[in-house]
Amino acid sequence: MTSAAIIVAAGRGTRAGGPLPKQYQTIGGVSVLRRTLEAFASHPAVEHVVAVIHPDDLGRFEEAAAGLPKMLATKMLPPAFGGATRQASVLAGLEALADSGPDTVLVHDAARPFTSPALIARAVEAGATHGAAVPAVAVTDTVKVVDGAGIVAQTLDRASLRAVQTPQAFRYPAFAAVHRKAAEAGVDTLTDDAAVMEWAGLPVATFEGETGNVKLTSADDILKADSAAFARLLDVRTGSGFDVHAFGPGDHVMLGGVAIPHPFGLAGHSDADVGLHALTDALLGALCDGDIGAHFPPSDPQWKGATSDRFLAFAAQRVRERGGLIAHLDLTLICEAPKVGPHRDAVRAEVARIAGVPQSRVSVKATTTEKLGFTGRREGIAALASATIRLPFSEDA
Ligand code: MG
Repeated sequence: MTSAAIIVAAGRGTRAGGPLPKQYQTIGGVSVLRRTLEAFASHPAVEHVVAVIHPDDLGRFEEAAAGLPKMLATKMLPPAFGGATRQASVLAGLEALADSGPDTVLVHDAARPFTSPALIARAVEAGATHGAAVPAVAVTDTVKVVDGAGIVAQTLDRASLRAVQTPQAFRYPAFAAVHRKAAEAGVDTLTDDAAVMEWAGLPVATFEGETGNVKLTSADDILKADSAAFARLLDVRTGSGFDVHAFGPGDHVMLGGVAIPHPFGLAGHSDADVGLHALTDALLGALCDGDIGAHFPPSDPQWKGATSDRFLAFAAQRVRERGGLIAHLDLTLICEAPKVGPHRDAVRAEVARIAGVPQSRVSVKATTTEKLGFTGRREGIAALASATIRLPFSEDA
């Protein structure tokens, strides 16, 4: 049995206000969409994840998905572009999954980032068992039907009412077929995925939803979730890193993940990227988690010639695994040559990409030592770095 997830992220989210659609706004420094993608891609029962996005949001999507751990990134299919309605967007997601042909498909709102692994597991099972199933929670408010003048016409029996969430789960072949049939019939305004099955007269089962699986709709929802996320990240820490590599034969140096032409290379076991090594140690220092040599011993032949992006990506992932975020990275490169200035923004962009943080949180500086010392004699390059991270506060961490 294989399962895939469609994350519906094509909406413009205008009700939430702000300069960005709500799925690209951040809570606790991490975009809503990123949280949702991670929730599904990290689930062992989900093999593929396809996000359906607005074509204008391709850059935003790439930023949200950047730096996912390799295990998760390999599950991500290229994004599909959404249509004019939710129903058309889901169909685009279904077509994007046609080649992988999963047994079960989950359809989920990007704006529900707090879905638990247990709920995803229940969805997969219910979809496989019933063919169509939706997570439902009891309604705590009394629900009344009103007429056009706002006068109560009927009070509904709360015991038989359910509020329905996502992920909604379906057997893929039947759901895709019904979706195509509905589109061909010109039915395109069904706002709920199960409604497509209901339109075809097929039964839809319910399974236990989750009150914490809220849909972020208003600006206030985003603000509250953001405050709650930051309130957990009280443990602010700074780590420092330092590294040196000597010049050796070559025609370029790797600095912060960028190849910079130079009459010499840097000697070292890996690609000798002093910048990424110092940044890696700064993050590990903030985590009190050893140093780069402890995690990637130079004696281990598998790191020979390795590109150093994996070291920094590893340290950044260690921060995320602790439920934390990287608030700031600051790198100082110390050398007489090459000139770093012309490459500064390229290095910032590359460090940001590798660490999975916005470029606005990455600083790159350069200095010489006024021809003094080994850097002054052009024997090598030194790098200093600091990293500020925020972790959930815990007594024993
Ligand atoms: Mg080094």
